[in-house]
This record gives sequence, C-alpha cells and structure tokens, in this order.
Amino acid sequence: MYDQHTAEVPPAVPPGRSSHEPTTTERGSFCTARCGCGWSGPARRSRDRARTDAEAHRTAP
Ligand SMILES: [Zn+2]
Repeated sequence: MYDQHTAEVPPAVPPGRSSHEPTTTERGSFCTARCGCGWSGPARRSRDRARTDAEAHRTAP
C-alpha cells in the first residue's frame, strides 16, 4: 500500500532569473527589443544591437 505524503511544491522559478524575457522584433530593416512588461527598446538597424538592448533590460531593472 502506498502512503505518500505529497508536499506542496512551490512553482518552479529558477533563482536569479527575472520575469523579464525580452525578445527582438524585426520591422522592415529595423529591429526592436520588446519585453512582456511593456518595455520596448529603440529601433536598431542591426539585430545585434537590439539584442544588446534586450540583454541590458533583462539584467537591469
Ligand atoms: Zn521587462
């Protein structure tokens, strides 16, 4: 017979990770970083730059 005690497990949230997960969106020849919190970076000509913006937003509040 099984006698399992299932403890309540809190939702798995990886430590040290914020809720900001910005993504880059391409618009024509421009690329913009956007986040679910409503933040959006400036339009960049290169996707690399937009990624840098996204990274900066994710690491900084
Ligand atoms: Zn954000």
